Amino acid sequence: MSNTLSIKNLHASVEDTEILKGLDLEIPQGEVHAIMGPNGSGKSTLSKVMAGHEDYEVTAGEVLMNGENLLDLEIDERSRAGFFLAFQYPHEIPGVSNANFLRAALQARLPKGEEIDAVAFYKTMYEKMDALGMDRKFTGRAVNDGFSGGEKKRNEILQMMMLEPKYAVLDETDSGLDIDALKIVAEGVNRMRSPERGFLVITHYQRLLDYIVPDVVHVMSDGRIVKSGGKELALELEEKGYDWVTEELAVTA
Ligand code: ADP
Ligand code: MG
Repeated sequence: MSNTLSIKNLHASVEDTEILKGLDLEIPQGEVHAIMGPNGSGKSTLSKVMAGHEDYEVTAGEVLMNGENLLDLEIDERSRAGFFLAFQYPHEIPGVSNANFLRAALQARLPKGEEIDAVAFYKTMYEKMDALGMDRKFTGRAVNDGFSGGEKKRNEILQMMMLEPKYAVLDETDSGLDIDALKIVAEGVNRMRSPERGFLVITHYQRLLDYIVPDVVHVMSDGRIVKSGGKELALELEEKGYDWVTEELAVTA
């Protein structure tokens, strides 16, 4: 039971407005879950609350990662504990090269006194970049600084591949990607699928889920998960939109 990412009764506010209103979600290790939902339903808020973004105040609930409450940890501790978020709008870090950023992040995961092997590091990074179709010039460029939307999204996936998290949340990684880039990114994610890792793929459109086929699809509306189903639920949503889900709720309420 404990090898899950388990979100229980999560409430969170921004500037005194409640956005997450008692959200429950359970992602067992080894599974890929998708969250779909209309804009403004709180999908990015959920991902940022899990990552520890300072704008959001958690007023109730817990997020247990393999039994450990993420909400008790500092932002960097969450990352070292194995949580990763690929942002919908990735941050730019002017003045810090991509290579140095990744190296520092990996170094921070080593026991005190241990040094990262620079040769092995570059070898691994180049392999992953090749797999993602990223030009090597991106190693020396400042993190996301002046990157196009699609380049930023690939860079987020590069970070994920290097950090090898236990649980990864991808927030609308598909937006800004053309179909070829989408396939490359999806392939990167699919290669990382493993019994030891869980994914939460947040997307507004069904298209990404053609390439990253989820085990479970959840619908989010007004700060809660309101419906869950198999991968065919994504197709149903694509066809019928989101309104029928909320209408169905109104009928059963
Ligand atoms: P989604 O990702 O599903 O489109 P968001 O989580 O981005 O939804 O937003 C949910 C709601 O919370 C929206 O009404 C949005 O305006 C509000 N919100 C999110 N972040 C902030 C913020 N930092 N300041 C003010 N309002 C915010
Ligand atoms: Mg969003």
